[in-house]
Formats: sequence, C-alpha cells, structure tokens
Amino acid sequence: REARNVSSGIVFFDDYLKDKLRVYKHIEEMQESALENHEFEVYYQPKYNMEENSIIGAEALIRWNDPVHGIRMPSDFILIFEKNGFIIQIDFFVLEEVCKFLRSRIDAGEKVVPISVNQSRVHLSEKHYVQRLGEIIRKYSIPDGLIELELTETAISEIDDVENILNQAKALNYRISIDDFGTGYSSLTMLNRVPLDAIKIDRNFLIESNNSKKTREIIRLVVEMAHALGIQVVCEGVEKQDQADFLMSIGCRFGQGFLFSKPIPINDFMRIL
Ligand code: C2E
Ligand code: MG
Ligand code: MG
Ligand code: MG
Repeated sequence: REARNVSSGIVFFDDYLKDKLRVYKHIEEMQESALENHEFEVYYQPKYNMEENSIIGAEALIRWNDPVHGIRMPSDFILIFEKNGFIIQIDFFVLEEVCKFLRSRIDAGEKVVPISVNQSRVHLSEKHYVQRLGEIIRKYSIPDGLIELELTETAISEIDDVENILNQAKALNYRISIDDFGTGYSSLTMLNRVPLDAIKIDRNFLIESNNSKKTREIIRLVVEMAHALGIQVVCEGVEKQDQADFLMSIGCRFGQGFLFSKPIPINDFMRIL
C-alpha cells in the first residue's frame, strides 16, 4: 500500500510482473515444439569417488537450447512444466536419452557407470508411472542397477503410498535415491520407509558447514547413519578442496560438484569417462 505513493515503484513492479507472465506464457507456448525440434539436451554431471579421483556415476540434467533466447536452465522452466504436466514428457525424454546412451555404450563394449535421472513429484500421483518405468527399461534391456531415480525428500513425503510405488520401481531394478536430503521435514522417516540405495546431501548443508561446527556434526552423523543402514552417500555442490577434505575425513567418499566437473554435454562426458 505504501508503494502506491511511489509511482515509479508501481510502474517498476508492474513491468516486472508483466514480464514474468510473458516469459511464463512464452515457455508454455514453445514447450511442445521445442521437444519436437530437439531443443532439449541432456547434460551429465559426473559423481566422483573423491579418494580415488574416479567417476562412479553421473546425474542427467536437462538443458533447453532455445534458438532465440539461448540456453535455458531448469530453474526457468521446471516449475512451469510441473504445473502444466509437461514435466512427465520431459522426464521420460531424459530417461529415454539415458537408456539410449547406456545401450549404445554396452553394445560397443565401452565402460558404463550408473546414471541418475531427476523425477518430479508429479509422477508419483500418475497411474501409469511404474508401468512406463518398466516399459522403458525393458525396451533398452538395461542391466540391473544402472539407472537411479532421484526424488526429492519433499516429493516423497507428500504421497501416501510412496513405499508401494518405490518398491515396484526397485523390483524393476532401478536404484532409488533421495535428492536434496535434509531440506525436507522428514529425513529420518524416509530412511525407514523407502527402499533406498543412496541419499544426496543437499548443497546448502555443505555451504553452511564452512562456518558451522553444528552443521559439520549433522553431516557426520547423517553419513554414519546412512552407512550403518547400507545406504550410499553422495554430497552435492562440492566446490572447494577443503570441503572435499572435510567430507573424506568423515567417511563420505562420494561427491559431486564444480570442483570436479560442471554438468557437461554427452560428448564431453564420454571423453572423460
Ligand atoms: P538437483 O537435482 O539438486 O541438481 C543439482 C543442481 O546443482 C544442478 O543444477 C547442478 O548443475 C547444480 N550443481 C552441481 N554442482 C554444483 C556446485 O558445485 N555448485 C553449484 N552452485 N551448483 C552445483 P541444474 O542443472 O540447474 O538443475 C537444477 C534443478 O532442476 C535440479 O536440482 C533438479 O531439481 C531440477 N532438474 C534438472 N533436470 C531435471 C530433469 O530432467 N527433470 C526434473 N524433474 N528436474 C530436473
Ligand atoms: Mg538431482
Ligand atoms: Mg540435488
Ligand atoms: Mg539440490
């Protein structure tokens, strides 16, 4: 209400909202043709064994090469796609690209590592989700444990029969991991309810750990607890060597972050693999 007196402020705010709405609409208008025109591309960010400096896997991350706007990042469109349901097509597009990649490497007798794909919460309330997961893994005859589904803690905690869904995905030999672990409100419950292969400690914990002994203790105990339960731990967002050193000192050997590699196009990933 105060802002009404400041006319320039109102104009600014108005333009800002209009602009946001225009971009939102534009993205929705373009999404389908963008998929048809192959503007979506899967990047790969390796996960490292920090002690051995070796690649233990990778995460598939979507990019949109808009011929006019340039590259669009997931933060520009994932929420929009979740609202309008297009995320289902995008996530299955990514999964299929990953399957094709693994299949071609296997056929060529080349080295493969497990690849993880991000799965929106939206799938968990879709009737045919598990069926489609089964169809795609069979279509490409992907060996057991080569594809990991990353679901955020918040997504998992919203759905009642999530255990049932994830048990079925596990029976299809997908690996299951919790993404952004520690940012939701039910971390401990999740460890108990869900058939987990891995957790990914959220990047914000690592940022906080630089200045907070308490946060370092929390990370240490989470790692210890996960390992005691036979769950792999990967820490996200490792940017500095001292963060890697800290993680290794508490027994967390697996890390992902700009210190090792940014997400990169498939050809670059194959080269370093
Ligand atoms: P996420 O799954 O937690 O992925 C990690 C994000 O952190 C990626 O951002 C990655 O580029 C970034 N990152 C990795 N290491 C570092 C680091 O050392 N420092 C910093 N500052 N950032 C780092 P990206 O690719 O922009 O993706 C953002 C989010 O968008 C993802 O978070 C994921 O939630 C979502 N997303 C990306 N691709 C897909 C997809 O295909 N499907 C769905 N449903 N969501 C996706
Ligand atoms: Mg992820
Ligand atoms: Mg994450
Ligand atoms: Mg994160």
